[in-house]
Amino acid sequence: TCLESAINFGAGPAKLPEEVLVEVQKEVVHYGTTKISVMEMSHRSADYAKINDTAQQTVRELLNIPDNYKILFMQGGGTGMFAAVPLNLMSETGVADYIVTGSWSAKAAKEAAKYGKVNMVLPKTDKYVDIPDPSTWNLSPNASYIYYCANETVHGIEFPYIPDTQGIPLVTDMSSNILSRSFDVSKFGVIFAGAQKNIGPAGVTLVIIREDLLGKAAIACPTVLDFTIMAKDNSLHNTPPTFAIYVMGLVFQWIKKEGGVKEMERRAIEKSNLIYEIINSSNNFYYCPVKNDVRSRMNVPFRIGDSNGDEELEKKFLVGAQKLGMLQLKGHRLVGGIRASLYNAVTLDNARVLAKYMKEFYENNKK
Ligand code: PLP
Repeated sequence: TCLESAINFGAGPAKLPEEVLVEVQKEVVHYGTTKISVMEMSHRSADYAKINDTAQQTVRELLNIPDNYKILFMQGGGTGMFAAVPLNLMSETGVADYIVTGSWSAKAAKEAAKYGKVNMVLPKTDKYVDIPDPSTWNLSPNASYIYYCANETVHGIEFPYIPDTQGIPLVTDMSSNILSRSFDVSKFGVIFAGAQKNIGPAGVTLVIIREDLLGKAAIACPTVLDFTIMAKDNSLHNTPPTFAIYVMGLVFQWIKKEGGVKEMERRAIEKSNLIYEIINSSNNFYYCPVKNDVRSRMNVPFRIGDSNGDEELEKKFLVGAQKLGMLQLKGHRLVGGIRASLYNAVTLDNARVLAKYMKEFYENNKK
């Protein structure tokens, strides 16, 4: 049976499906018939091979990943991939294009500049509220790849489309929206995602890479960040984060059982609409600076009181939310205010509780 949980709107590490946690609890001491825990199991054992392969197969099925793509389970998180991407892909021309639309793609571009020439596709800004029209993008003629962040977790900006790169390999950070919308994997060279938001506990990073992009790593690329070595050894070159991969595999199965990515997408639209509708009809009492058509379904950042945020009111909002069991709603320190993260494991009922509270808070505190 489930314990009564708080409602967790954290941005990451974030809520996991309750059914998955109950399953983990059931088999944490003795996994299957093994009489040991997954945490105690050799990564070279047949039991672990099955965990590894099943997780791969399930996500391949969920995202309809073509056969010419490898699926890797790596370490280093999103930040590790900020280095791994240039170290594995930049050697062709020494140049890469970065589309910076928020703090995470900005960090990725900064890291890549250690390893080669980074061309900034968009004019520099620290006010991230929009994605400029592709017709204005400054793409370079000789980029090894084009990089963007599909969902900016801090600023709440999500690409509603896949950029057209005219054949240049496209690399994307989907850490905070993977498996929440359907898309065509074959449009990408590399997709990566830290697990701790939508698909599992911290410690494992999912990488999906087109096979023809393997074999190009820089000589100085650390072995643990080398996509080619990881692909060749089926993510078992060194000791992987076995327990995190096991839990992530259970989350994949949960998504499949719930109806797959299409159903996750349907729910994400419904949950985020509930919150944005209240923001939009609050006469700027709730203020989200992000342009309508690029607002994230996963992370909804907003200020309370006015566009700069009334910090007293925001504090009051958070205290009241906590009293009702709603946790981790505080905005990222870069933007302040409130942020509601609505990942796959957050239920429609959870979102309804927040929406109801926002409505009441508005009625009680509007000027
Ligand atoms: N990319 C995105 C979109 C993120 O939201 C985060 C973390 O919040 C990162 C990268 C960094 O990931 P990590 O903390 O695993 O290095």
